[in-house]
Amino acid sequence: MKLNELTAHEIGELIKKGEVSSEEVTKSVFKRIEKVEKTINSFVTLIKDEALKQARLVDEKIRKKEKISPLAGVPIAIKDNMCIDGVLTTCSSKILENFKSPYDATVIKRLKENDLVFIGKTNMDEFAMGSSTENSAFKITHNPWNLETIPGGSSGGSAAAIASDEAILALGSDTGGSIRQPASLCGVVGLKPTYGRVSRYGLVAFASSLDQIGPLTKDIRDCALLMNLISGYDERDSTSCDYPVPDYTKSLINDIKEVRIGVPKEYFVKGMDEEVEKSVKDAIRLLEKLGAKIEEISLPHTEYAVAVYYLLATAEASSNLARYEGVKYGRRSQVAGHRSLIEMYEETRGEGFGDEVKRRIMLGTYALSAGYYDAYYLKAQKVRTLVKEDIDKAFEKCDCLITPTSPTPSFKIGEKIDDPLKMYLSDIFTISTNLAGIPGISIPCGFTKADLPIGLQILTKPFAEETILRVAHTYEQHTDWHKRKPRI
Ligand code: GLN
Repeated sequence: MKLNELTAHEIGELIKKGEVSSEEVTKSVFKRIEKVEKTINSFVTLIKDEALKQARLVDEKIRKKEKISPLAGVPIAIKDNMCIDGVLTTCSSKILENFKSPYDATVIKRLKENDLVFIGKTNMDEFAMGSSTENSAFKITHNPWNLETIPGGSSGGSAAAIASDEAILALGSDTGGSIRQPASLCGVVGLKPTYGRVSRYGLVAFASSLDQIGPLTKDIRDCALLMNLISGYDERDSTSCDYPVPDYTKSLINDIKEVRIGVPKEYFVKGMDEEVEKSVKDAIRLLEKLGAKIEEISLPHTEYAVAVYYLLATAEASSNLARYEGVKYGRRSQVAGHRSLIEMYEETRGEGFGDEVKRRIMLGTYALSAGYYDAYYLKAQKVRTLVKEDIDKAFEKCDCLITPTSPTPSFKIGEKIDDPLKMYLSDIFTISTNLAGIPGISIPCGFTKADLPIGLQILTKPFAEETILRVAHTYEQHTDWHKRKPRI
């Protein structure tokens, strides 16, 4: 096996023992990128020289026998909505095309302290709005399992980079499913942590009450190791929680006896994709065989989740995106002779934002406007509470919930791009998680006849990521979906 095909924990071990250098690993990753990036398009920015420099510094530390972290020297790809000092952060938007971040996001700072090697920034739906990565202003990312299909979104570049072995680890962000859905469609592991578990400082805001950063990885151990580094309180994010961070690798036990798993009946509906349904039900049967207690439960307000999300997320986005006006940073319209400041704002925003972002700003502004606020925004907030109460009630009876991650496997590029409603329904199984602030993971649980990956979603109570990791790890020990590689 080539170095870039290994997991992060395997590479971390080899580096620690001095059997390979971080430089060799980093070079193998860039060799892979040179070979397949033209076909996949996972990245919007590559930082090869900086990465090799960073890798040599880690190797130097190892030669000097300095103490290093378990992931020291491992190459990681970062979604392009997280700030790395001195590197472009575009959010795949023309409005930030030339924006170089002047500081590090907290997650980046922590990864730097632990000597991870940053290889580049990954493609995404513009400002994380989308489910297919087709909303990027720069390029379309292809699913490594079938180049004619989408990788999911909005963290499609990160998921595709992991699936194609162009990166060993990646970070994504999840507001309504953007880590889990692409993980599912690309056959990798993707975890959205509890709201408040990982600092959002330096993550470009989409919908602040829902956004959360999390890992995309090749297996559960890598996910646990990365969580160890990025989790924890940060005084720079007022919504981050001062709650102890466990050693997540301690949850990697191959035993789920007596774990109570709830299966929400609203997530298995008539007309859903048969292959997805079969794979997920097979996985549930396997977990039962391994000792879990399975129980059907009900989350009656599920049917409102998509509507609630698209009111709240757009309302928050319309406010967050008001800051892009071409004055302090980012793109400014070069049209000559603006007659007023307002005209300059309008030109700048008109040129800089893509259609989906404009659609959401308009929807959100409408939902917040005087006269409509009570009918839309306030009502959506109330229904959000009902969705959360359903979930709280479920966790009185169960330790975790299991559902499909996405109602369908990957779909053809272009298939849903002209039908926003159809696209919005891609997140029907992931959105409630964000509304309730709970953690959720997607792990590979099968393939369709056409060889497209299928994902299983596991949800737990706030700050119970350890239960997720335990169940996911046990499942992984008894299956080998996660070991399959696409032929590119
Ligand atoms: N697909 C959803 C949306 O378009 C979720 C995006 C996300 O999680 N960032 O809003």
